[in-house]
Amino acid sequence: MNNCNCLYSLKSISEKVLFAKPNPRVCYVFLVLHRLCTTNWSVINIYMETSIIGKIHNNISISETRIKYCLYARKSTESDEQQALSIDSQVKEMTAIADRLKLNVVAIKRESHSAKDSGQRPIFKELLEEVSKGIYNGILTWAPDRLSRNAGDLGSVVDLMDQKKLIHIQTYGQTFSNSPNEKFLLMILCSQAKLENDNKSINVKRGLRARVEMGLWPCRPPTGYTKFKRMDQKCESVIDKERAPIIKQMFEKIAYDGWSGRKLHQWLRDINFKSENNMYLSLGNLYRLLSNTFYYGKFEYPTGSGNWYNGAHEPIITKELFDLTQSKIKSQILEPRSQQKEFAFTKIMTCGLCGSGITADEKFKHQKNGNVNRYVYYKCTRTRDQNCTCGFINEDDLVEQLKDLIDDLEIQTVPMRDKISGEVQRFKKFEQMLLGSKTPVSVKDIDIRNYAKFILQEGSLDEKREFMRCLKSEILLKNKKVYLV
Ligand SMILES: [Zn+2]
Repeated sequence: MNNCNCLYSLKSISEKVLFAKPNPRVCYVFLVLHRLCTTNWSVINIYMETSIIGKIHNNISISETRIKYCLYARKSTESDEQQALSIDSQVKEMTAIADRLKLNVVAIKRESHSAKDSGQRPIFKELLEEVSKGIYNGILTWAPDRLSRNAGDLGSVVDLMDQKKLIHIQTYGQTFSNSPNEKFLLMILCSQAKLENDNKSINVKRGLRARVEMGLWPCRPPTGYTKFKRMDQKCESVIDKERAPIIKQMFEKIAYDGWSGRKLHQWLRDINFKSENNMYLSLGNLYRLLSNTFYYGKFEYPTGSGNWYNGAHEPIITKELFDLTQSKIKSQILEPRSQQKEFAFTKIMTCGLCGSGITADEKFKHQKNGNVNRYVYYKCTRTRDQNCTCGFINEDDLVEQLKDLIDDLEIQTVPMRDKISGEVQRFKKFEQMLLGSKTPVSVKDIDIRNYAKFILQEGSLDEKREFMRCLKSEILLKNKKVYLV
């Protein structure tokens, strides 16, 4: 006992109790407290249970016969409770005790859920509700940890005792009534079950961490690897001789041959490539596979944690091949996107301040009524001056300014003039046909300018570009204004 780290604090509590009321049950509290911080607690537990059990039997049998007990038996289906008695055995044992102690058992409830998480057990919840309503005021169960292995359920039980709705809890070795000491003991025993529970998950995590630090991937290895099916070599990933060469080719086809993900996907179908589970790779899985660092020997665990480990497995590819593949995939994904975004006026303007080109970007604004408005902004690319203060201009403003400038533009270039004249003539003929006029059609400069304005405002992307290309003047963008040179 002297080796115990927490003895000092516990000793002060338990000594107070011991001096105040020296009886076997208090002594038990002391020992239970102690065993929480030592490894061989179970020995002490058994010793105390047998030493006080006789006294309990004598104490309660007469005074508490009017208590209505509900027998509650629970066993979870989890493997970690394999050592617990089966539900039927629990019922059988507890019925025997009830007979011996002459306890008035009015109901038997059985449950096969884990008590790890609070509120997960419907039958237990029902039991608490019925105690709260006064249908029972006693619980008969195999051990305190049958009632609770989590803080929420434990709180509910103790609350019911505080409210005097639950008068007595009888377990195989112990008895708990509404006295401070016994409630304290109950809470300790249940907390201990919680402690075991929590430690168990820490142990699992610790085991996983130890494995990853040895470079062993604790989960199922990616396609191209397979797991040793021997317990002494748990977690060891070995090369899948059938699939690994294909995996290597997949990286090479992207990196060296410039294949797209889709082409690779089709190729895998053509050669009938399947995973260990006999499944074809989806396109999404294919990209996920190609971005898995495990293939060149490194892995992150847990994913997204930033903890990287050098795997103990044999790499299928080199890091260089992996990196090249990533950059190829990135450019493949980016290309179609830049094609989608097309802007009419980028190529015809230059920055009036630094002489760099003009680029454009689009923004979408969500309005309250649910509509989405698209705004296009033009700005300096800053290739010639990193700190150019040119600013940006909204496309609508740009079009308005260009329309104003059209009156000053030279529209002399032959193909453009001919094209516009042709369009304007057609429109005028149509107009005359409707009005019945016979005057010969003439296309004036003003008509061409008006048509140009119309194209700027309403034309298609190609019409706008074609028009702008035919301009003789150079256009400069400077401080949100366009100028002709
Ligand atoms: Zn600039």
